[in-house]
Amino acid sequence: MKETIKHHLTDALLMAYSAGTLPEAFSLTVAAHVSMCDECRARLGAFDSVGGALIEEGETAALSQGSLEDTLARIARAGPPEAPRRAPGRKGVLPAPIRDYVGGDLEAVHWRPVGMGVKQAILPTAQDASARLLYIPAGAAVPDHGHRGTELTLVLQGAFEDEVDHFGPGDIEVADEELDHTPVADIGQDCICLAATDAPLRFKGWMPRLAQPFLRI
Ligand code: ZN
Ligand code: ZN
Repeated sequence: MKETIKHHLTDALLMAYSAGTLPEAFSLTVAAHVSMCDECRARLGAFDSVGGALIEEGETAALSQGSLEDTLARIARAGPPEAPRRAPGRKGVLPAPIRDYVGGDLEAVHWRPVGMGVKQAILPTAQDASARLLYIPAGAAVPDHGHRGTELTLVLQGAFEDEVDHFGPGDIEVADEELDHTPVADIGQDCICLAATDAPLRFKGWMPRLAQPFLRI
């Protein structure tokens, strides 16, 4: 199955994932997108190899004074990454990283209604951020909402549209407190997403810090 993915992970998220500094709920969402997306898997491979090379070269001091731009330039100079890890084959709707949390595919999900036909299932991750599966009936809307923190929404089945764009299978939307939106599921098919959000009170200054642990390796 070849899907055309238009909306990808940011460099900051891939770097933080590579450095192992993301909250578990965000790690899961990044892993799920990477398992569906050849492009992000290749970019992650580049971050992983540069991170490893920096440790081997012992350039800790030099790097700590560098900037994100320097690091990105190093990655660009490092050339194409090694052969990307192969995506595990996808059977069913849920990618493997999510199936591990659910204990199976969709039939194993314990949905709870949250109103207007929308259902959710919260996944068992650490408390610093939360991950939930969302089930939005075809044509239905998730109520207009802003974000007090960061929200990652990965489409697993169907599609939705909001004020930003149209998001189909494999697409990931990175929303922050700037965005107010009303996602509406496409008419044709019920939409299933994985949504990860951090605890609202923990957000201030959190996103800009994402890359710092990576730069301090
Ligand atoms: Zn991608
Ligand atoms: Zn949202």
